[in-house]
Amino acid sequence: MILKPDAVARGLVGEILARFERKGLSFVAVDLRTLDDATLRAHYAEHAGKPFLEPLVALMSSGPSLLAVLEGPGEDTVGIVRNLLGATDPASAAPGTIRGDLGLALPANLVHGSDSPATAAAEIARFFPALG
Ligand code: UDP
Ligand code: MG
Repeated sequence: MILKPDAVARGLVGEILARFERKGLSFVAVDLRTLDDATLRAHYAEHAGKPFLEPLVALMSSGPSLLAVLEGPGEDTVGIVRNLLGATDPASAAPGTIRGDLGLALPANLVHGSDSPATAAAEIARFFPALG
């Protein structure tokens, strides 16, 4: 997962990481870094050509992100994380979720979470090659 620059700039790193910790997930790796344009365009390749890509890349390159690899006890850590995040649009994300409680308007929805185990493996390889 990635705590996006809006989350870091607003001082919400502790609040958000605490939610994953309280859920019982474990941190395998954590790193604070500013993502560059080429890395972001590869990360968001599925959204190439969509109208929200440029504002999204602008947000994501605006300052440091907190990247983390999370581990859970079973096969569905990706689903557990996505449930904690809530819906993509923070304006309509359910209360109790990170995006629903802390976010207001796209593209700033605080956290990226991998959307499948295969995507998670590819994103871990991209952002934490030493873990490979
Ligand atoms: N996004 C946006 N407008 C949209 C859809 C998405 O600004 O209409 C941004 C938002 O920050 C989102 C990211 O693009 O997290 C990637 O979109 P995706 O559909 O993959 O949502 P996610 O998997 O992050 O829930
Ligand atoms: Mg996505």
